[in-house]
Amino acid sequence: MRINKYFKLFESRSSNLSEEEFFKLLKENCQDFIKNPKPLQRVKHDSIMYSYINPKIHSRKDGSTASIAKIINLLIDNLPSWKEFPKRNNSIIASSNISTYQQSYGSEYYILIPFDGAKFGVAPALDLWEVKTRYLPDTNIDINLSWMQSRLKMLDVKTTSYKEFMDDLQSIYNQYIYDKSIFKDRDHLKSLFNTFINDNIENVEDGLNIYLSPSNLVTYRKEGFELNNYNDLKTDYPYEIWTDSECILYSLGFHNECDSCGGTGITGCDECWGIGLIDNGDGNEIECYNCNNGDVVCPECDGYEPLDRDQEYAKFLEKIKKI
Ligand SMILES: [Zn+2]
Ligand SMILES: [Zn+2]
Repeated sequence: MRINKYFKLFESRSSNLSEEEFFKLLKENCQDFIKNPKPLQRVKHDSIMYSYINPKIHSRKDGSTASIAKIINLLIDNLPSWKEFPKRNNSIIASSNISTYQQSYGSEYYILIPFDGAKFGVAPALDLWEVKTRYLPDTNIDINLSWMQSRLKMLDVKTTSYKEFMDDLQSIYNQYIYDKSIFKDRDHLKSLFNTFINDNIENVEDGLNIYLSPSNLVTYRKEGFELNNYNDLKTDYPYEIWTDSECILYSLGFHNECDSCGGTGITGCDECWGIGLIDNGDGNEIECYNCNNGDVVCPECDGYEPLDRDQEYAKFLEKIKKI
C-alpha cells in the first residue's frame, strides 16, 4: 500500500480507494458493520468502486439538492431540541435499506459503511417532504415540511445564518402580534403563530423549538425523528438517515431503470399487440413473426437488465467473510 495516500485520505472530504485500502479501512474501523452488516444505501452520480468520505469536511455547494431544504436544514441544525443530532449540513445522507430506486440522486448504488461509533439521524420517512408537525393545538391543522420550507422562503427573511433568520422571523412575528391582518386567513403561518400566542410564547425560536422538535415531527408511518447508534438502526423500511461519521462506500453498480419497460428489458410487440398471434389473411391465427409470445426486446434500453442490488450485496458479504 502506498502509505502517502493512506494518510492524505483524511485531509479531503472524499477519496477513491484501492481494493486493498478499502478492506484495510473496513477491518480497522468498521467492526460494527462486520459483526452486524446492514445494507445502508447511498445513491450518487459518479461511479467509484471503493471510496472514503469524511462528511465533516464541508464541501456542500449551494444549488445542490440540499439547498432545496435550506431553511429546514438551518432549523434542524440549530434548534436546541436537535442539539444531539448530527448536523445535516456536515453529514452524508443515505437510506436505511437498499429496496428503493432513487433516480433523482443518480444511478450508482452504494453500500454505506460507517466507522465504528457513528450516530445517525433517522427521519420518519424516506423523504423529508412527507414529514409534518403534529396537530397544532386549537387550530387543528398540521404543517408539512415542504410547505414550511416554501412558505418561510417567501417571507422577507435572510437565510445566510441561523441568527439572521431568527431575527428576521422574530420581527415578522412581533408585527403579527399587533396586526393580525398581515397574513391572509387561510395561511398556515397564521395558525402556527396563533398557536405560539395561545401558548404565551414570545420568542419565535422557542415556538419552533417545540413544534419542530424531533419528537413532534411525524408521518403516518412513524412518530418522530430518532437518534440511533449503528446497532439501533432498523433496516425494515427505507427511512432517510444521515451521519457525520467517516464512512467508506462500496459500489453495487449502475442502475438506470428504463421508462419504457420498467427495467424488465421486455415490452409488448406492436405487430400482434402483445398477444403473440396474428391473422394469416385466411381468418386463421398463426404465430407472430415479430416476437416471442408477444414479447420483444425493449427498443429503448435494448433489453438492459437492471442491477440486482440484493444479489450484489450478498456477493459483497461473501467477500467480507474472507477478510
Ligand atoms: Zn408479435
Ligand atoms: Zn427498456
